[in-house]
Amino acid sequence: MSKILIIEDEAELVKVLRSYLEQAGFEVHSSYRGDTGLETWKSTQPDLVILDLNLPGLDGLDVARSIRRQDDTPIIMVTARVEEMDKLIGLELGADDYITKPFSPREVVARVRTVLRRAGSSAAQSTSRVLRAADLEIDLDAYTVTRDNDSIDLTPTEFGLLAALAERPGRVLSRSQLLEATQDGVIYEGYERTIDAHIKNLRAKIEPDPKSPSYIETVFGVGYRFAKG
Ligand code: CA
Repeated sequence: MSKILIIEDEAELVKVLRSYLEQAGFEVHSSYRGDTGLETWKSTQPDLVILDLNLPGLDGLDVARSIRRQDDTPIIMVTARVEEMDKLIGLELGADDYITKPFSPREVVARVRTVLRRAGSSAAQSTSRVLRAADLEIDLDAYTVTRDNDSIDLTPTEFGLLAALAERPGRVLSRSQLLEATQDGVIYEGYERTIDAHIKNLRAKIEPDPKSPSYIETVFGVGYRFAKG
């Protein structure tokens, strides 16, 4: 399992990135400051660092330089503005990739994979797992879904449901199995309706005609299944 360190002072952003990266199978560490981030980098020895430019304590440039002096840990630099990014690239910091805010967490996961693959990390070397079902392409590693090369934007829960169903075409999954698959974990009252609501949203996004679903079929009284195609 590859370890990712996020050094970013926006707590909400860290939370979102953490959730996406963990669902993609990464071990995630985080720090809200540049100076403590550098300490965490030393103590955790991550496989990749996602590094914000403007940080309290020690700014992102200094953190990147300090890491570079000691090691070749891949760094993905996050900046708030495109102009900053141009400047950064000019500085030849040795960052492996640059992302400007606002970004989609799914794109960050895909970039992390790419950078790790390029860096030759053993964890990323496993062949990518892509499910093809009808005209849908579901990349279980990059966390992306495309139909006819158009990308479809799903929430992590919707993605989890779709992946669970599409991995086992033709097999019926009960609502509680689906709940488990989304790693929501907590079983609370009314969860069946929660799954139904997510499926409804998912269908609205992926089905050509959500009223007459062709991918995700309802099996009354049992659950849902992915059509065999
Ligand atoms: Ca910041």
